Amino acid sequence: MLGFADERMGRPMRLVYPSRKQRQKLEAWLGLCCEVYNAALDERKSAYRMAGVSLSYEHQCAELPACKQVCPALNEVPSQVLQDVVKRVDRAFDDFFRRVEQGHKPGYPRFKSRFRYDSLTFKQYGNSFNILPASKKNKATLVLAKLGHVKMVMHRAIKGTPKTAIVKRTPTGKWFVSISVEMEGEDIISKRLPVSEEAVGIDVGLKTFAYLSWGKRLPIRAFLRAEEAALARAGRKLSKAPQGSKQRAKKRKVVARVHERIGNRRKNFIEQEVRHLVKQFGLLAVEALVVRNMVKNPKLAKSIADASWSMFFTRLQAKAEEAGRQVVRVNPAYTSQTCSACGHRQQMPLSVRIYECSQCGLVIHRDHNGSLNILSDGLQAVGRHSRVIPEAPGL
Ligand SMILES: [Zn+2]
Repeated sequence: MLGFADERMGRPMRLVYPSRKQRQKLEAWLGLCCEVYNAALDERKSAYRMAGVSLSYEHQCAELPACKQVCPALNEVPSQVLQDVVKRVDRAFDDFFRRVEQGHKPGYPRFKSRFRYDSLTFKQYGNSFNILPASKKNKATLVLAKLGHVKMVMHRAIKGTPKTAIVKRTPTGKWFVSISVEMEGEDIISKRLPVSEEAVGIDVGLKTFAYLSWGKRLPIRAFLRAEEAALARAGRKLSKAPQGSKQRAKKRKVVARVHERIGNRRKNFIEQEVRHLVKQFGLLAVEALVVRNMVKNPKLAKSIADASWSMFFTRLQAKAEEAGRQVVRVNPAYTSQTCSACGHRQQMPLSVRIYECSQCGLVIHRDHNGSLNILSDGLQAVGRHSRVIPEAPGL
């Protein structure tokens, strides 16, 4: 069994530190690749416009040697990196035609500016790139064809066999590499979970972190509340310290540390909840966008909650993909106003915590009602029945 996992999915990319000379080289390569991209795009457009011909990837690749004769600087760039540029043009056209077929109105593939063209793909592990794990003497190293050894930050060991490495420049001038790996047998099986027919709707809120459609609440952990208070206290002390004083610098550090601590604890909390959810449920329905009107809440609480939710959704998606689970995002409109039993809609101001249906008489917690609607929309979206409230498993 083979499968691919891309580090870009929910995983941080690895920072790399090219030397100044290497950076100059990478920048030059990006510039050349950008030119090749635009030239290949232009050639395709003209061929189609003038002769009605669609040029293929193979055709354009075969032209690369001739391009190198005209522009010798291209010889500096690893050939596989150049071939990938042509592949990107090919993919852009494929996407375009696929979307046309689906009845969308996609934009025609566009030329790229030097600033927007910011990544290079190195294919074939062991050929155009290599990875040397850290040893006692040396740090982990990324070896790139025609560039040499680049220092790399390696927090986790790479699992599986590396396939391609994408080296990317950020707008702030940092460099990252993301390595996609091929996983075999055990590596995949260890992450794939037994099939689950169970489905759940998840409604996130401020008072409770999330409400699950079978009636369970995930409370916002008390520590997050405590940290909120600590942050407010540190912030007050900071604002009292005189501008430009040593004291102020110290207080600023305290604030930064509290932020870091909140971040770490939140991450642990979310990882743990996501692990449980993905383990139990085969289908997880969530809202596509969480836009809530949190009138009475101070900004601080809101920002903490917002950050937690977006992290929660990102991790849920990533973990679910790894485990072969399905995440369905549903339209968040009316999830709290609609009665989960009869479909009646009524106004639900935020202060009203209990949903009392004026049509069928259902009385249910507001967020519980929301999570049931999210579940039923999710089931409908994947073609499974809806408007049936599943019984709570093992309650
Ligand atoms: Zn009702």
